Order: sequence, then C-alpha cells, then structure tokens
Amino acid sequence: MYDVIVVGGGPAGLTAALYAARAGQDVLVLEGETTGGQINFSPLVDNYPGLPSMSGAQFAQTLTQQALDQGVHIRNEAVTFLRTQGDRVELTTDRGRYTGLALVLATGVTHRKLGLEGEDQLVGMGVSYCAVCDGAFYQDRPVAVVGGGDTALQEALFLSARCSKVTVIHRRDLFRGENGMVRQLRERDNVEFLLSHRVDSLLRNEEGLTGLVLADLKTAQRKELAVDGLFIAVGQEPRNEIFANLVMTDDRGYFLAGEDCGTSLPGVFAAGDCRVKQVRQLTTAVGDGAVAGLAASAYADAHRNCGT
Ligand SMILES: Cc1cc2nc3c(=O)[nH]c(=O)nc-3n(C[C@H](O)[C@H](O)[C@H](O)COP(=O)(O)OP(=O)(O)OC[C@H]3O[C@@H](n4cnc5c(N)ncnc54)[C@H](O)[C@@H]3O)c2cc1C
Repeated sequence: MYDVIVVGGGPAGLTAALYAARAGQDVLVLEGETTGGQINFSPLVDNYPGLPSMSGAQFAQTLTQQALDQGVHIRNEAVTFLRTQGDRVELTTDRGRYTGLALVLATGVTHRKLGLEGEDQLVGMGVSYCAVCDGAFYQDRPVAVVGGGDTALQEALFLSARCSKVTVIHRRDLFRGENGMVRQLRERDNVEFLLSHRVDSLLRNEEGLTGLVLADLKTAQRKELAVDGLFIAVGQEPRNEIFANLVMTDDRGYFLAGEDCGTSLPGVFAAGDCRVKQVRQLTTAVGDGAVAGLAASAYADAHRNCGT
C-alpha cells in the first residue's frame, strides 16, 4: 500500500514522484522500460531553461537519482490493468499488484508507425524510430528520414554527421519543425530534401532494407531510392488504452485533465505528454509533474483514513 503511485518514470512521472515524496508521501513509480522516458533518445537538449547543452540521457539519469534520493521507490514493471476498490486504486503489473490512495498517470507517448507492409519485420534490419539508438549502425551508409517536425529534423542532423547521405522525406511543402534546424540541414552537403513525397513501400532482400519506393505527391510519379536505413519520425500517439475504460480521453486517446491535472476519476491525475495539451516538451512535462504530484499528495492526505 502506497500513498501515491505513479505510472511512468519519464520527466513528468519522476517530477510528480519527487514533489509527492517531498510532501511526505510514500511514493512508488512503476516504469515499464527505462526511467527518463523519451528524452533518453535526445543527443542534445538545448531548450531546457537554466541547463543548456545537456544530453537527454544525462537529464534522465540526474532526475532518476534525484527522485531516489528523496526516497521514491522505483520498480521496473509495466502496468497492465487499473481498477478501483472503494477509495483506493489497484494496479496490476507483469509481476504484481499495488494499491494506492492516489494515482498519477504519466505514460507519455510512443512513436507512430507508417503502416507499411514489412515495417514491423524490418525493425532492427533497416527500419528504426531512433537515430540516437541506431545511428551508429549506419556509419558512412545512405539513410533516409521521414517526417517534418522537430524530431525528424533533429534525427537528420544527428545522422548527417555519421552517414554518407541523408535524404529527408516529407509529405508537405514546408517543414513543421524549427527553421534554425532546417537552415543547418540545408548547409550540409550530404543532406537532400524530398518535399511533397511519400514513402509508398519498403524494398528488401533477405538481409534487410535495401530501398524505398517514393511517390511524388505533386506529379504522382514514383521512383526508387536506395538506402540502408530508414528513420521514421512521423509523430506520436498516446499509450493510454489500458486506462481508457476508467479515465476519460479525447478522441485521439489523450487523457482529459484540468488545471490541477485531475482526470474524470477522483484521485487520478494525468501529467506530461499523455494528456491533452498544445506543447509537449520537457518544460511542460515537469510543470505538470509538479502540479500532479502535489495534487495527488493532497488527495492522499484527505483520504488516508477513509475505509474501503
Ligand atoms: C528524440 C527526441 C528528442 C526530444 N528532444 C527534446 C528537447 O530537446 N527538448 C524538450 O523539451 N523535449 C524534447 N523531447 C520531448 C520530451 O522528451 C518529452 O516531452 C518528455 O519526455 C515527456 O515526458 P513524459 O514524462 O510526459 O513522457 P515520456 O518521456 O514519454 O515518459 C513516459 C514513460 O512512461 C512509461 N510507461 C508508459 N506506459 C507505461 C505502463 N503501462 N507501465 C509502466 N510504464 C509505462 C514509458 O516507458 C516512459 O518511460 C524529445 C523527444 C524525443 C523522442
């Protein structure tokens, strides 16, 4: 039995845990993968106020240690089921069951797929969703990045320092990501842009990906591009399905939460990228984490002596 349980040990979840622990609560974080969440995959974070030029992994490690130092319990277990029991919440993981007075959902987002035939089978054989994790495998080899937002541009910059050629494929005329990054990419000799293009299919042999079939969306012409790697950065989607029977979401699956991060289910708060919001960044995730951690703490204090 814990005062506050947090699902997800990314920046939002760890911050919620840190604030709840500092408010005197016994706090458990359940993290199914690696603490720190998505930011582990960022080579360089340059927009976190007060801490310029740190790596994402460095940020993740420091925040994890900070939470541990405050007495937060962290277990490497994925939550598979949530139910309520009177005033309590009960979470089932792949290894056990945990009961809490208040719950913070900080499940973040995961990468969206292109939905192409063979995409799943080619992961690790040419298809990747993370340049920081897999870029080194493509040293001096040609790759493509598909997407038009900040993540795609960041991935292209990272890969252009290693790969022989980087082709950036985007289905629109203009990038959504930061102009500064577009400018940096334009200055690199080994980067080519294919705007108004779509990846139609993946070409492969028995060893893995060999190329892409692309469609020019203006002329409808199709052509092949030989690449050894394809890095897909076409957006994100929430991972909230297992909670959606009890906690209200919008039609895209993001939790609906108020100013205090409270959801439709009393005692359950949502923080970070997993909730409906305009800006999904570290700053907004940790801001939510602080608010949700304190709100969950107040809820736990108010309900500690209620029977079930
Ligand atoms: C490549 C990349 C670069 C980025 N660069 C920047 C940047 O420079 N600046 C910036 O501000 N932001 C950046 N971001 C965005 C930033 O990382 C996110 O906004 C932030 O991590 C959101 O934090 P979060 O805690 O809400 O979610 P996440 O970081 O997604 O963490 C959620 C955690 O919950 C866990 N989880 C999910 N479901 C379950 C479950 N059922 N059981 C247990 N655990 C679960 C996941 O494993 C994950 O660890 C970047 C993101 C990426 C992918």
